[in-house]
Amino acid sequence: MKRIPEPFRIKMVEPIKMTTWDDRVEALNQAGLNPFLLRSDDVYIDLLTDSGTGAMSDNQWAGLMMGDESYAGSRNYYNLCAAVEHFFGYKLTVPAHQGRGAEQILFPALIERMQTVRGGKDPIFISNYHFDTTAGHIELNGGKAINVVDKHAFDTTTPYDWKGNFDLELLESTIAKYGAENICAIITTVTCNSSGGQPVSMANMRAAYEIASKNDIPVVIDSARYCENAYFIKQREAGYQNKSILEIIREMYQYGDMLTMSAKKDPLVNIGGLCCIRDHEELFQAVRIRCVPMEGFVTYGGMAGRDMEALARGLYEGADEDYLHYRISQVAYLGERLREGGVPIQYPTGGHAVFVDAAKVLPHIPAQEFPGQVLCNALYLEAGIRAVEIGSLLLGRDPETGEQKESELELMRLTIPRRVYTNDHMDYIADAIIALKQRAHALKGLTFDYEPPVLRHFTARFKSK
Ligand SMILES: *Cc1c(COP(=O)(O)O)cnc(C)c1O
Repeated sequence: MKRIPEPFRIKMVEPIKMTTWDDRVEALNQAGLNPFLLRSDDVYIDLLTDSGTGAMSDNQWAGLMMGDESYAGSRNYYNLCAAVEHFFGYKLTVPAHQGRGAEQILFPALIERMQTVRGGKDPIFISNYHFDTTAGHIELNGGKAINVVDKHAFDTTTPYDWKGNFDLELLESTIAKYGAENICAIITTVTCNSSGGQPVSMANMRAAYEIASKNDIPVVIDSARYCENAYFIKQREAGYQNKSILEIIREMYQYGDMLTMSAKKDPLVNIGGLCCIRDHEELFQAVRIRCVPMEGFVTYGGMAGRDMEALARGLYEGADEDYLHYRISQVAYLGERLREGGVPIQYPTGGHAVFVDAAKVLPHIPAQEFPGQVLCNALYLEAGIRAVEIGSLLLGRDPETGEQKESELELMRLTIPRRVYTNDHMDYIADAIIALKQRAHALKGLTFDYEPPVLRHFTARFKSK
């Protein structure tokens, strides 16, 4: 596969430390065999997440100097509102400190509307796939989060263009089962992070919106990676090849009534979020009322003026087609190199990450011994690369029986930060994983040395079997 040259040049560099095998053994042991507990200084290439790890442009850095730090009515807020309206056509904008901030000011308002306006009782949200903090905010507010993702998502090897799609039949039957009046919202997550950064087709977004409208249910677009989704639509969906990314984004957002956004992903800033509403003034007021005590005054919502400016500019840069072509191709290139080297991955490669199928690389390690985590640790020792487990360790125990649940997939996620690593870094990563595969049979499973009661994957410590 051809490497797409970077559509930027570099005018500032950040040195990264090169480490030896012995350095890494010591660092990983200190970290209790949990890469989350490594110091980033001990990591050569950090693929833990694409969240907030992107590189801003000179134009965004220049925007920081234009920060208007007035408490109320900052000019940067109005610039941000104008950019939102330009891309999404939504008139009402509330900034938030990041995606989860937007979730915590919007979801209670949606639950309240379901109960007072639509006469429901038991709050339900339905999504192609809820992101973990999204499900978390729903559950914290007494709701239930139900996923209705297309079955293709769980089959890593069979190519399918739209592994992020809703299973539309399941969507309809789920609405019928719980009663439309109880459904607070349908959440369309683009791209679908949890199935591997997989896109949702325009046809599927449109159909989900029609089902929602028929049942009088609002649609929230969870918008962390909407530009990458738009690029996939342009590449793969009939009728969109000659449309601009802007036109595609505008159409996507017709199939929603509001959005929550983690601006730490596609909009290329290190921190920030948004909650935007097409035109529903009452809901906007309800969100603003919650914003003040939770996030901050309604024209800054936890963001500095300068950060809102960087975000307003980032919305434009993230949707630039030359950039997206390079971005998606860089991730796909890493995926292709791994496939050529015989490494099983979720295929086709998603927008922001390559997911290595650890259950297939380590068939001798059972789910209870966390093959994804074993592979992450081995990759760190091999090459100083930090990846993250998405599998049974992340999934946790059954809250009733206390038994370890078995994840449908055991994955090692290689998440690629935006505009940060070069194509040479991609080759280095691929070479390391291919080399690792040769000695995978000798790797051993893990057991807990310390298992925290909640969100255990962040701080757990392990022993090798
Ligand atoms: C990252 C993310 C969130 C949460 O956003 P934060 O900025 O991390 O709070 C919500 N939904 C999706 C799809 C995400 O990727």
